[in-house]
Amino acid sequence: MPGLRERLGSIRPTWAEIDLAAFDRNVDALISRIGPAAKLVPMLKADAYGHGAVELAKRCRTDRVGMIGVALLEEALELRQAGIKLPILVLGPLNEEQVRTAVDHDITLGVTGPESLEIIARVARERDVTIHLKLDSGMGRMGNLETDLPRVVELLRSAPRLRLDAIYTHFANASDPKDPFTEQQLARFAMLVETLREAGITAPRTHLSNSAAAMRGIVGGDYVRIGVALLGATAIDDNPLRLEPLMRWRTEIARVKELPAGSPVGYGLTFRTKRLSRIATIPVGYADGYTRRLSNQADVLVRGRRAPVVGRISMDLVTIDITDVPEAEFGDEVVLLGRQGAEEITAEELAAKLDTISYEVFCNVGARVPRVYVDGDDVVAIRSRFA
Ligand SMILES: *Cc1c(COP(=O)(O)O)cnc(C)c1O
Repeated sequence: MPGLRERLGSIRPTWAEIDLAAFDRNVDALISRIGPAAKLVPMLKADAYGHGAVELAKRCRTDRVGMIGVALLEEALELRQAGIKLPILVLGPLNEEQVRTAVDHDITLGVTGPESLEIIARVARERDVTIHLKLDSGMGRMGNLETDLPRVVELLRSAPRLRLDAIYTHFANASDPKDPFTEQQLARFAMLVETLREAGITAPRTHLSNSAAAMRGIVGGDYVRIGVALLGATAIDDNPLRLEPLMRWRTEIARVKELPAGSPVGYGLTFRTKRLSRIATIPVGYADGYTRRLSNQADVLVRGRRAPVVGRISMDLVTIDITDVPEAEFGDEVVLLGRQGAEEITAEELAAKLDTISYEVFCNVGARVPRVYVDGDDVVAIRSRFA
């Protein structure tokens, strides 16, 4: 994007561009996938997996999005302080003080178990509290089990100011279309909802699906909770939707040197040139979340071509071999994640090298990396922890 560098003033040359127009297109694609019966719920926890929850939430129009989901009270308050008016669900659990603060800010509470419902019911003696009741249909982590339901029913009956707005569950393995466990979870969820209904407990809404389930077409319920797909990552192998990655993490060559064959590069001498080599140094490191485990493992993009990371990744610096990109020079853009010309480094590529998932690759991009929000040629916002 020509001219962007100039418009960013004295910012460090290492930043992550977040494409808000691509986010809008992903929202469109997911809404059409979900269909008119359910509403999209962007899950913007962990700062929208490192992309920036506030800026993405600002793009969520109230007519298109049913609610926003986050994990922590702090994340919900950050959105409220930024002026976000949409309903916000905190997955929780929260302690009593946090429940009171959440209710003060019109935040909906996820009920993760009978213990959390007891705390919430105590607060609901004095005031109205809106809740979504989570059922454990097989994940084995949060949520109420069948054996919890008698206590849950008793607590709900004893607290008339509790407004049960929805009942929901979460899939454990929706990304594997061959695993019948998702269908078993669907059946178990229906059974638990029916058990509650027989005890006189009903809710106007249900929700179940995450990105992987939605992409596979499992979109029952009134809300669909989507995280990673909105960021353009593929939640399943043969993803039927055209989603666009939002994040483009880039830096610039800060030093170029020619080293003779046999020269060591970096801490621990883990790389030695095999030929007369051009080694470039880029100002990014593991303190920025470019993890040291990518040492001698990853590629970056220079002039639209791949160049390997060589030697150990340091705290603030990375060395790359640009011998095969002979035109590359001081100041050239280097892309760590995202597209440059016809080439692309995807989050999935880095995740495979690190034996993890794209989610963690995104979350690892550190607070020291400014986020630059672009919409076409416009810079909409810059978020830096030094700003
Ligand atoms: C994070 C989260 C989601 C979104 O998951 P994706 O795989 O990113 O779509 C949905 N539901 C719950 C309960 C979550 O914690």
